[in-house]
Amino acid sequence: MDKRYRKAIIAGNWKMNGDNTSLKTFFKEVKQSKTPKNITKNILCVPATLITAAQGLSKSSKFSVGTQNMHFEQSGAYTGELSASMIMEAGAEYVIIGHSERRKFFGETDEIVAKKTTAAVLSGLKPIICVGETNCQRNFGVTLEVIRRQLKIALSSIDAVQLKKIVIAYEPVWAIGTGRTATPEQAQEVCKEIRTCLREMYGAKSARAVSILYGGSLNANNAREIFEQYDIDGALVGGASLKAQDFLKIIEIGAEIIGK
Ligand code: PEP
Repeated sequence: MDKRYRKAIIAGNWKMNGDNTSLKTFFKEVKQSKTPKNITKNILCVPATLITAAQGLSKSSKFSVGTQNMHFEQSGAYTGELSASMIMEAGAEYVIIGHSERRKFFGETDEIVAKKTTAAVLSGLKPIICVGETNCQRNFGVTLEVIRRQLKIALSSIDAVQLKKIVIAYEPVWAIGTGRTATPEQAQEVCKEIRTCLREMYGAKSARAVSILYGGSLNANNAREIFEQYDIDGALVGGASLKAQDFLKIIEIGAEIIGK
């Protein structure tokens, strides 16, 4: 079973939600819970304002801290932006890159995603790169082409050694925040294609070691069948990561099905 070659990852994306109070409550509940937290790799991607607090609170919780965006330059006249080194200095280890909300609302192109991916890796931040098709693209039957294009461009400057630091999240745009989860078969078909594409780019050994997550309205009720899919190694979770109890249930299912 190839799953033994990769990390099982459950990552939360708080988007533009949360404050110091909700963060404290979250980690208090995490620390009190009996859910096994050392079997899956758990990551909480918070707004940049909460990175340092999350890093402090996450100690002894077995959670790693991430954030949701970065600029590809190291410094300069980019008002309002944060570089990879700034985010790392604040305490982040992971960064979400190319989330569909950034692509849609902030004009993030595949080329920008590639630049950010390269800058993150060169700085030592671990990217969680999001790829996913729109409803329209799925209806026109071009899902796999779209995913391949996004992936190939995002990884265009990444070599096989750098690939070890990268996580890929398949997030169909039509499933994010809609309550409409991909079926396990749809999710597996695309995640398998992602791995095939990685194999063509980097070879079988490198491809089998990349953790591929599913994201899009995942919750404790549908996580099990998604995690059972051969090429799916975890989840990127939006809404259901906001409350520790909901997120912990998903972690528990992950620990049971994909954990080791
Ligand atoms: C996301 O924002 O990455 C996400 C998957 O959101 P949700 O789980 O709320 O669909």
